[in-house]
Amino acid sequence: MKNIYSNIYKPTNNNLSKAKVVIEKGGVVAIPTETVYGLAANAYNTRAVKKIFSLKKRPSNNPLIIHFKNIKQIKKEAVINKNFLRLVKRFSPGPLTYVLKKKSGSRISKIANKGLATLAVRIPSEKNTIKLLHILKCPLAAPSANRSKSLSPTTAKHVAEEFGNSIRMIIDGGACKIGIESTVIDLTTKPKILREGGLSSEVIGKFLKIRLSEKQNKIIKSPGQIGLHYSPGMPIYMNREKATKDGALITFGKKNYSNQNTFNLSTGGNLKEAAKNFFNTLRIIKNKKFKSISVNKIPNKDLGKAINERLRRAAYYE
Ligand code: AMP
Ligand code: MG
Repeated sequence: MKNIYSNIYKPTNNNLSKAKVVIEKGGVVAIPTETVYGLAANAYNTRAVKKIFSLKKRPSNNPLIIHFKNIKQIKKEAVINKNFLRLVKRFSPGPLTYVLKKKSGSRISKIANKGLATLAVRIPSEKNTIKLLHILKCPLAAPSANRSKSLSPTTAKHVAEEFGNSIRMIIDGGACKIGIESTVIDLTTKPKILREGGLSSEVIGKFLKIRLSEKQNKIIKSPGQIGLHYSPGMPIYMNREKATKDGALITFGKKNYSNQNTFNLSTGGNLKEAAKNFFNTLRIIKNKKFKSISVNKIPNKDLGKAINERLRRAAYYE
């Protein structure tokens, strides 16, 4: 019988070389990162970048994050500044994405950043993806490897569940260490968090010795931050202690629920662990065909902010 996941590849040097060839020919490859799995293409190649949008059915106004191997490579495409240099030396490679001005001579496809004057750049830390970036000559445009609006993938199998064999290669780097998307910070003006994510905005604020504003900017600077997203395809009720009939309950911390429909994000009340388990738990609940999800109150600090931001977007149910 044909293995339905025959496009999942171990991250051997040989397979990374194959991925390089696919990318150089303008194809799309799913890559592991420490945040979530990404759907990657040559960021210089408009035709390749367009494939990402059509595979994901991503709204055409939502720009992509560009993944780089190092600072030197970023400098070729974006205008760097003091805050960028301070942050990148401290937090990269890692789950922090910087929005910078795009350089006038940049070769990054206009389709990737949707013709904006800015570019979202990140250096991922996942070792296989770093290896791949080092054997490639181009940076990689890569959003999360899921259909638009749906749950982000944190394993190679999740990616296969989303796309089947419609993508040529999925590089299997194991389960993502962080499990939620990167934090996005705008550095084109006074630093501002555009999206909470895998690096706590409190940690960034402390490091920069500034108070980062908590409120979203009225002007939409990050077009991906509106409407339904991260959806398990069922209603979500926040700050609940009980599941609805036929519903699942997501708990956090030491709780004495023993029900079959209860899923604990972290029995020890650890927000990092909860973030790591978050998308996987939603996916399990979805696959078990529950009808709704009720969620305990999650503390709104550290990575709890990123979890709550995602829950709010996912709860935007139509
Ligand atoms: P995703 O890769 O789908 O997890 O999301 C990428 C996020 O980065 C989205 O919220 C985008 O709107 C945001 N983003 C990408 N490029 C830019 C940019 N140039 N300016 C502001 N936000 C951006
Ligand atoms: Mg996404």
